[in-house]
Amino acid sequence: MTPDRPISELFAQRRPLRSLEFFPPRDDAGIASLRATAGALRRINPDFVSVTYGAGGGARGRTAQISAMLKTDFGFTVMPHLTCVGHSRAELNTLAGEIHAGGFRNIMALRGDPPRGATGFAPAPDGLRYANELVALLKARHADFCLGVGGYPEKHPEAPNADVDLDNLKRKVDAGASFITTQLFFDNMVYYRFVEKCHARGITLPVIPGIMPVLSLKQIQRITQMSAAHLPPVLLKRLEAGGDNADTVEMVGIDWALTQIRGLLANNAPGYHVYILNRARSALALAAGLAA
Ligand SMILES: Cc1cc2nc3c(=O)[nH]c(=O)nc-3n(C[C@H](O)[C@H](O)[C@H](O)COP(=O)(O)OP(=O)(O)OC[C@H]3O[C@@H](n4cnc5c(N)ncnc54)[C@H](O)[C@@H]3O)c2cc1C
Repeated sequence: MTPDRPISELFAQRRPLRSLEFFPPRDDAGIASLRATAGALRRINPDFVSVTYGAGGGARGRTAQISAMLKTDFGFTVMPHLTCVGHSRAELNTLAGEIHAGGFRNIMALRGDPPRGATGFAPAPDGLRYANELVALLKARHADFCLGVGGYPEKHPEAPNADVDLDNLKRKVDAGASFITTQLFFDNMVYYRFVEKCHARGITLPVIPGIMPVLSLKQIQRITQMSAAHLPPVLLKRLEAGGDNADTVEMVGIDWALTQIRGLLANNAPGYHVYILNRARSALALAAGLAA
């Protein structure tokens, strides 16, 4: 299995990177549809794609399955996500070994959200409590892993304040992370202020802005509630004006995301990461809108 190039080498080329995020589907029909999405997205040649890691159950094995499929059948550079949820250190070491043996050299290292129904995060027996510990474990297991970590321009919901959250981000950087991908946000000013604060803390790694083209008002209200991302009133009004017409709402979402990305790239963002929700249409429309 040919090992992937570390994403840090792509950053060294000093051109904006485009990455897309998939989640593992629940069933075979979902996998067939994801294959169609992946096939359509090959045309826009993303620099890398990532595959989320579920909170528990069978979905976890599917991250490995989908990552292997996207690498082998579609030729993408794939970054599987990995979380601490429910895993002992020994299990995480085994998973790290499997990922490495599969030829993957890039991992998004996360603490993870508590499983549905749980009130807060609790580490597994002999498990890890914070993502910086996972970064350290993975680097100790395989020094050639290139690790991404999550950043929160609007603060992680559990952090008492933004300064403490930045201190904790710095721990992940110091443990060996190579880049930061942000939680979704809809107002670029939030990102610019975050990057400034990172610099003030001595965090100089690339900060990839995470962009989600809205697909439905209900869905984005749920997601923003969970992530504490702020939905600007103008965007909310436009989405409400789209009413029940799914196509109109999707167009509003793509238009907003396109404007965001143009602004970010004009202001020297190191690229952009699209939360595509396994849909090709918005990613293709964004790529077309950005073609120069
Ligand atoms: C780009 C991206 C991709 C994601 N993909 C997934 C996924 O695939 N699967 C999934 O389940 N979730 C995913 N998430 C969600 C993520 O798991 C949650 O936001 C989770 O609640 C925090 O994960 P983290 O890695 O940022 O945690 P951490 O960096 O560990 O932070 C969690 C909280 O603890 C605090 N903290 C961190 N370190 C310390 C420390 N050493 N001491 C004290 N406090 C500390 C932080 O301030 C924060 O409030 C993703 C998030 C992002 C931004």
